[in-house]
Amino acid sequence: MLTCDDYRLPRSLKSALEAWSKAPEGSRLVAGATDTLPWARQGRAGDIVGDVHVPLLVDVTEVSALDSYRLQDDGRIRLGANLVFQQFLEDENLARYLPHMPPCALWFADDQIRRQATIAGNIVNASPAADGIPPLVALNAEVEIASLHDQEVVHRNLPLVEFVTGPGRTQLQPGEIVTAVTCDTALGYGGAFEKVGHRRSLVISIVCTSCCLKPSQDHKVFDDVRLALGGVGPVPMRLDDVETFLRGQTISPQVIAAASEIPLDRVASRTRREYRRDVIRGFVDRSIRDALARCGISLPPTHRPA
Ligand SMILES: Cc1cc2nc3c(=O)[nH]c(=O)nc-3n(C[C@H](O)[C@H](O)[C@H](O)COP(=O)(O)OP(=O)(O)OC[C@H]3O[C@@H](n4cnc5c(N)ncnc54)[C@H](O)[C@@H]3O)c2cc1C
Repeated sequence: MLTCDDYRLPRSLKSALEAWSKAPEGSRLVAGATDTLPWARQGRAGDIVGDVHVPLLVDVTEVSALDSYRLQDDGRIRLGANLVFQQFLEDENLARYLPHMPPCALWFADDQIRRQATIAGNIVNASPAADGIPPLVALNAEVEIASLHDQEVVHRNLPLVEFVTGPGRTQLQPGEIVTAVTCDTALGYGGAFEKVGHRRSLVISIVCTSCCLKPSQDHKVFDDVRLALGGVGPVPMRLDDVETFLRGQTISPQVIAAASEIPLDRVASRTRREYRRDVIRGFVDRSIRDALARCGISLPPTHRPA
């Protein structure tokens, strides 16, 4: 069980920052609490196993500045920190701009968790298995972070690939709150997400792949491709080399098969190396095909030598 001496439910960003910047050591900030409660229950809170007591819980779910999303003048989209994964399944407009997020959300936990789980919580928790990070990395995401300086709210931005520095580690400093994630939009792209874990439902990823791509108007050539992997190393990775290989190439099973061989040397995890290599090959191939299928292009299967 998680208990606290004091609980705050601020409504404005400034009051959230005031509470959080003065929070006694050992305090926690929570949004959906879907990572925080297992953290407390499973004894991951340091040496403590069983009940966990914190001096202060700052709950940011009522901070309106962290809600919702909006398209920016520069063509990017700003996703509020408290946007929950269920929204990618329910908001058609959001799904049009980020077509790889609904398949990601579909694989994410279950209905109940999806309605609570925020994108900021997923990013700050920084699990190598976080499903939300690879799709955002693929679209050049930046993390918007707020803090208080001389009683004024100030913001800084960091690329998501720099923000996450290792398993459970980020560049977030004491007193800071993530306010949003901004990323490219992919209107007119096909999107796909593949994931494998220990079982089919409520599963934490061993490997996941996210793909967003745009074919040429005549459906012959890859105009743009965005790909990222999770679970194969301490931090998620963008597959720039595969993207570069595919851009401008003719769309064919052979080209996709060649592309899916490129990232195999990236497997840094020490466990299940061979398995992860096989999975990556299959996932890159399948996610490209799925994304093409969503653009109305279906290809014959690839026959690989046994
Ligand atoms: C049964 C179950 C299934 C799950 N399945 C999946 C899955 O399929 N895929 C997956 O990726 N994850 C899964 N998770 C993990 C979890 O649901 C996600 O990581 C979720 O996105 C966390 O968001 P949250 O709002 O609940 O975070 P919280 O638990 O509230 O917070 C997590 C961390 O982020 C910090 N934080 C939250 N918001 C902010 C903010 N605005 N600024 C600064 N710090 C912040 C908190 O302080 C804490 O350190 C699952 C969890 C459970 C319990």
